[in-house]
Amino acid sequence: MNSFKSYDVVIIGSGPAGSLCGIECRKKGLSVLCIEKDEFPRFHIGESLTGNAGQIIRDLGLAEEMDAAGFPDKPGVNVIGSLSKNEFFIPILAPTWQVRRSDFDNMLKRKALEHGVEYQQGLVKDVIKHEGKIVGAIYKADDMEHQVRSKVLVDASGQNTFLSRKGIAGKREIEFFSQQIASFAHYKGVERDLPPFSTNTTILYSKQYHWSWIIPISPDTDSLGIVIPKDLYYKECKNPDDAIAWGMENISPEIRRRFQNAERIGDSQSMADFSYRIEPFVGDGWLCIGDAHRFLDPIFSYGVSFAMKEGIRAADAIKQAIDGNDWKTPFYAYRDWSNGGQQIAADLIRYFWIYPIFFGYQMQNPDLRDEVIRLLGGCCFDCEGWKAPTIFRNAIEEYDRKQMAG
Ligand SMILES: Cc1cc2nc3c(=O)[nH]c(=O)nc-3n(C[C@H](O)[C@H](O)[C@H](O)COP(=O)(O)OP(=O)(O)OC[C@H]3O[C@@H](n4cnc5c(N)ncnc54)[C@H](O)[C@@H]3O)c2cc1C
Repeated sequence: MNSFKSYDVVIIGSGPAGSLCGIECRKKGLSVLCIEKDEFPRFHIGESLTGNAGQIIRDLGLAEEMDAAGFPDKPGVNVIGSLSKNEFFIPILAPTWQVRRSDFDNMLKRKALEHGVEYQQGLVKDVIKHEGKIVGAIYKADDMEHQVRSKVLVDASGQNTFLSRKGIAGKREIEFFSQQIASFAHYKGVERDLPPFSTNTTILYSKQYHWSWIIPISPDTDSLGIVIPKDLYYKECKNPDDAIAWGMENISPEIRRRFQNAERIGDSQSMADFSYRIEPFVGDGWLCIGDAHRFLDPIFSYGVSFAMKEGIRAADAIKQAIDGNDWKTPFYAYRDWSNGGQQIAADLIRYFWIYPIFFGYQMQNPDLRDEVIRLLGGCCFDCEGWKAPTIFRNAIEEYDRKQMAG
């Protein structure tokens, strides 16, 4: 007889993916333990939410709490091209918010606790295998190693990509967007547009992979991000402050104007190598959700909404696998669904970077406008039979063919 605790589902990480997966598994009557290494609240980047994410949050019954927390409404995204030209506006699909992630992730974690997800603060260090199947995890807490058994181990460890590092999931393969480095910080005193546009996300770009975000995350605080190619960062900048200064000078005069009286709060940070995919990301007794298997590019703020959607969809697959004693059919269906949606998002992002001005035209094209707005709102997984994804796919394939032909 062993004395290990045993759960239907053990989840590594309580970011948006882990919390949503835990909540949905509990709704289906499964026992869930979530192991999180960090004490919450903790800083996290990823502060602008899509309309799809807003809907998930309302479905959780958190709308009032979001407003009470002072998270600004997000009317849409204002995209401003080089030299402040080629501007276009993307309205949101459904009401949503800009968030301070430390508070938002803590809110999701509290919701998961209410649903009966058990929590353990600790660092997951290894998996337990039996006859080739993953049957649990080993974690460190209170300076001791502990074991826990699972029917399904869910990797929701974000950019740590835990199961990939352990050689269970595939290796991290870089995505098209991987040559960027993002540097970011929070500021008070930023000049905003007048209401009702004061809490838009503003995206400013000068050329491919030279761009910036401004996201109002509370009534008086804005997040600024400067994203530039790696080689430029290493040539021109010694640290995140240099990169932010470079971006203010070179990406758009609009950044300088808005930040001329602003005061930075806390440290700036840089992040590299955030764009990758991992295959396989499902297997016997395990699967990965959210950033633990794929992250594309922050430009369209898909991360949190995709992480939550995958958490919800994976819970279906987990329930079916446990009930049917067969992991392959439901886990492969989850994999194919995820790959389909992520591919559509990847095409949309590549199209924007290759043809930013045409992208702005497509936003005005009455034939495509609605679909593009819905795709930008996070509907990349629910767009079977739409025209826009095929148009973007064909354009990308044509571009790649020409590149190959030299
Ligand atoms: C520069 C940049 C800007 C972005 N901007 C946006 C944006 O505006 N909007 C948006 O929606 N998304 C944005 N994103 C993406 C967003 O940050 C992520 O997609 C999202 O946080 C993924 O959620 P997740 O739950 O998969 O992972 P995470 O939120 O990273 O959560 C993973 C959790 O796992 C825990 N963990 C890791 N390893 C272990 C371990 N071994 N044991 C225990 N716990 C562990 C971590 O502490 C963490 O709490 C941005 C990303 C980048 C890089």
